Amino acid sequence: MADLIPNLDLLDIVRKQIKTCVGDLELEPEVERILHSPMRELKVCLTVPMDDGTIKVFDGFRVQYNDARGPTKGGIRFHPDETIETIRALAALMTWKCALHRLPLGGAKGGVVCNPKEMSQGELERLSRAYIRAIYRLIGPDVDIPAPDVYTNPRVMAWMMDEYSRMSTKNEFGVITGKPLCLFGSEGRNEATARGGWYAIREAAKDMGLDLLGATVAVQGYGNVGYNAAYLAKSLFGCKVVAASDSKGGIYSEEGLDPEEVFVHKSETGSVVGYPGTKNISNEELLELEVDVLVPAALENVITKENASRIKASIVAEMANGPTTPEADEILYERGVHLIPDILCNGGGVIVSYFEMVQNAYMYHWDLEEVRQRLDEKMTFAYHTVLDASKSYDINMRQSSYIVAVGRVVEAMKLRGWI
Ligand code: GLU
Repeated sequence: MADLIPNLDLLDIVRKQIKTCVGDLELEPEVERILHSPMRELKVCLTVPMDDGTIKVFDGFRVQYNDARGPTKGGIRFHPDETIETIRALAALMTWKCALHRLPLGGAKGGVVCNPKEMSQGELERLSRAYIRAIYRLIGPDVDIPAPDVYTNPRVMAWMMDEYSRMSTKNEFGVITGKPLCLFGSEGRNEATARGGWYAIREAAKDMGLDLLGATVAVQGYGNVGYNAAYLAKSLFGCKVVAASDSKGGIYSEEGLDPEEVFVHKSETGSVVGYPGTKNISNEELLELEVDVLVPAALENVITKENASRIKASIVAEMANGPTTPEADEILYERGVHLIPDILCNGGGVIVSYFEMVQNAYMYHWDLEEVRQRLDEKMTFAYHTVLDASKSYDINMRQSSYIVAVGRVVEAMKLRGWI
């Protein structure tokens, strides 16, 4: 979704978000300073043999933001516009996300500047293995545990786990989460981010008196999270998904889409665009539709001060990381739009990743119902913790999520004697 990334510095945004809780948490300047920077980062240069016999060089990164609450955890993005600045910010978000959901984990993120859409399976495999060789000394099942993210998937995780295991000369299933099921991934990991997000939306709807049966939904992005968000909207709650989009554009249908058929269309043609019986709309138009629930499930910085006053949804559920800027947060709050912030809304992915780590550590297997029930408990608890804090401090959901999450990280650092 290269066309969707405006030139905004996500780390700058994360720092502004930290600032909003400095007063309430009574943070000293040095404590704030520690929260503004990653504790460790690695930049690597990967050389990969391509199918045509040439060698190509790729830049890669791994940023470990903060491990006060446990081993660092976070996904790996393969994206042509990747930058270390974005990865830093996303690693910070992982730190708050794990703390908010009470996982015994810190936050990290990784990325490789590449365009997986233009690479063969063989090239992708060699790139994935080269990346793991390059960051090998920094990761490990009880140190830093990568997972899938934008344009990476269980197939890529399997190669990465295998490369790490070869280098360690023993099976290390627990070094990566989001693995395929037959390599001891967890049941329910693929749908986890979207399902967790819908558990949060369900709680919000209850609180607002909104009936989800027949409620209208627009989903921006149709990757793993966007597709599952659309699918679950219909299958879990009987919502009407009226719009969906991907990097090539969007589609709208007043009668509602069949999310599975749209998925088949995208697999066959490369895009949701052109799905029969729908009207073409742009990604920008999709965000401004009059719907009950808007789900940004693509990339960062799509709701900004330019378009926030035109967002008409009652609930904005941030299944992407960092889709809304701080100025837009304020505008949405003033206008009474109920925003479920990313670190709360999309925590389902890392929650089930954590379940995968637990199962790998104990060489055990939980069935799908058990995973879903535990996910529901965690999402529901976190949602009400953030909502209660937002009501009692009279602040927006972003600020209250930061007060809870950053507060826990600071408490851990203080008790450990770091600050
Ligand atoms: N990439 C997901 C996220 O941004 C999940 C990370 C994980 O499972 O470690 O939350």
